[in-house]
Amino acid sequence: MTDCIFCKIAAGEIPSNKVYEDDRVIAFEDLNPQMPVHTLVIPKNHYSHIADGIPDDEMGYLFNAAVKVAEIKGLSESGFRLTVNTGADAQQTVHHIHIHVCGGAPMNSGSPKR
Ligand code: 5GP
Ligand code: ZN
Repeated sequence: MTDCIFCKIAAGEIPSNKVYEDDRVIAFEDLNPQMPVHTLVIPKNHYSHIADGIPDDEMGYLFNAAVKVAEIKGLSESGFRLTVNTGADAQQTVHHIHIHVCGGAPMNSGSPKR
């Protein structure tokens, strides 16, 4: 996708603070962190959102990568929250699927954006 900001980050065309990268996914720090740890994990392939026909192996790989990122960020013991905002009501603002990996402090139990 030529006009997708996260595709550009995945391609290295826009700089990011990289946390993890392999041939299928990249994780980088959120530009506007809402928690002490707030990292985004994306597939290098473009899918607009979680209901965009993502193959099972891609979906599984992405979520396992999010768990790996939580471990890298030191959240395994304390816990963390994975959030995937999808569509307008969820206030998805970047239309390339991304998992928010958040933690580092206690969170509210309601239904927050992230
Ligand atoms: P959404 O609201 O779509 O679930 O989350 C999009 C997230 O991407 C937001 O938390 C926002 O701060 C982050 N974001 C938007 N543009 C950029 C960017 O250019 N670089 C980084 N690192 N994060 C971004
Ligand atoms: Zn994209």
